[in-house]
Amino acid sequence: MKNYIDTHGHLNSEEFLNNLDKYINNALKKGVKKIIIPGTNEIDSLKAIEISKKYENIYAMVALHPNYSKSIDLINWLENINSKDIVGIGECGIDLYWKDNPSLKVQQKVFIKHLDYAKKHNLPVVVHSRNAEKETF
Ligand SMILES: [Zn+2]
Repeated sequence: MKNYIDTHGHLNSEEFLNNLDKYINNALKKGVKKIIIPGTNEIDSLKAIEISKKYENIYAMVALHPNYSKSIDLINWLENINSKDIVGIGECGIDLYWKDNPSLKVQQKVFIKHLDYAKKHNLPVVVHSRNAEKETF
């Protein structure tokens, strides 16, 4: 059997939380050796850490998704995250697809805050970039 790593499994989403054992055991049985959970806001980032501490093969990332990056203050919690609890920063970036998304200027400020944290703690970054390749770069 092949071995896999799921680098982007939103186990911290509502639809998985009530049956985590089932989903994780099913994935492990099918050859998934590790699952990395991305964060999209403070609550589900903290949930990702909580799940990763409970299950041996599960790892956490934390971030504020660009769709939720309405204010630079919404990412202040990142400074309180213990970098030893996470394996990366994500998913963060720039999303110009949805018309009602936060302004590019604010999204970029929030994204830069993620990059600063990642650089400071020597962590990889999972970048979300939609209709915004140039702006993200
Ligand atoms: Zn995702």
